[in-house]
Amino acid sequence: MPMKVGVARETAAGERRVALVPEALGKLTAAGLEILVEAGAGAGAAIPDQAFVDAGARIVGTDELYAASDVILRVQKPAGPEIGRLRAGQAVVGLLAPLIDPSLMESLASAGVTAVSLDAIPRTLSRAQTMDALSSQANVGGYKAVLIAANAYGRYLPMLTTAAGTAKPANVLILGIGVAGLQAIGTARRLGAVVSAYDVRPETAEQAQSLGAKFVKLRTSIDATGAGGYARELTADERASQQAELNEVIAGQDIVITTAQVPGRKPPLLVTADAVRAMRSGSVIVDMAASALGGNCELSRAGETITTDNGVEIIAPDNLPASMPASSSQFYARNISSLLLNMTKDGSLHLDFEEEVTRATVITHGGAVVSEAVLKLLAPAGANA
Ligand code: NAD
Repeated sequence: MPMKVGVARETAAGERRVALVPEALGKLTAAGLEILVEAGAGAGAAIPDQAFVDAGARIVGTDELYAASDVILRVQKPAGPEIGRLRAGQAVVGLLAPLIDPSLMESLASAGVTAVSLDAIPRTLSRAQTMDALSSQANVGGYKAVLIAANAYGRYLPMLTTAAGTAKPANVLILGIGVAGLQAIGTARRLGAVVSAYDVRPETAEQAQSLGAKFVKLRTSIDATGAGGYARELTADERASQQAELNEVIAGQDIVITTAQVPGRKPPLLVTADAVRAMRSGSVIVDMAASALGGNCELSRAGETITTDNGVEIIAPDNLPASMPASSSQFYARNISSLLLNMTKDGSLHLDFEEEVTRATVITHGGAVVSEAVLKLLAPAGANA
């Protein structure tokens, strides 16, 4: 019997993405997989059920999806009643955020569910690039952050000379030059802004410059290159010297877009309340790192837009990829199908724990949590000391 792969309808508030798009079905059906799609799964991304049917899928109700599928594909982690619907021997694949919600992984393990998380893909492994959903979604986020900033800014971004006067180009600063930051640089440049960018990993200077941004070099040089291509957390001294110098740079900006993250930690504070007070009225900050943990801007509030007393608008958008659902789903579908095919042999799921991507992304299997990082978080305090 061919392995049945089910595409779940996302239920998280504001989530408009879907794990597979019709164009991605061909490769999966060619590998002998049967695709079931929960009715309405593509609606948020403007993909009608019929488009999935035309691409070879069968539309099913929620009960059948969970009962019949061997593997459930989704974008966000299952929540509420969806958790109870998953059953022993079934696999669920998505951006499951196992490090943020390790207890969900424990529940899935004890229910005998195999959990595979796309956010655990080794980022620097070139073979895994097609599966890198963090990158594809950060790319959408970086692009969208610039459009949101441009929309909120009451002036032109490009320099403009007209019979009615001249517009100066906007100064845009991008803090954090990872995947989102690079896309934000490119997008702001295409809109004609004067772009500068800053990161604590020195190798990003050349990448920013190649996209037309000026790299902000602080007098105190900091190299915070960490493991796996990520940044490490700064020491208190490094933070203090960085802050003072960054404040001067921020004061001259019309738009600041912040994207800085440190894996598993609270995002670094880069734009303090003092720095915001020194900005001109009408300036805009978009804090892409804002979450319940805090953001890169001291004053941002996740999911909200606020205007300070000195007229600076601070936007902390929630789930930017969901605001461009057709493209984000198209890229996500490519990521998740590449990962699934990597774990499929002769039409069925085949987990080879000797293989690097499988070892990194399978979080629960055979009734147990198998991810070291998640096990560490679940251990009683002190057990790993
Ligand atoms: P991220 O979302 O973890 O962080 C965004 C950026 O914030 C990073 O560039 C980081 O250095 C920066 N940052 C952290 N603390 C900072 C601070 N105090 N001040 C200023 N900047 C700070 O990063 P990401 O976009 O997920 O990328 C992570 C890494 O993975 C990068 O090295 C990226 O190049 C790499 N990557 C590699 C591949 C590949 O080789 N195939 C693909 C995707 C990403």
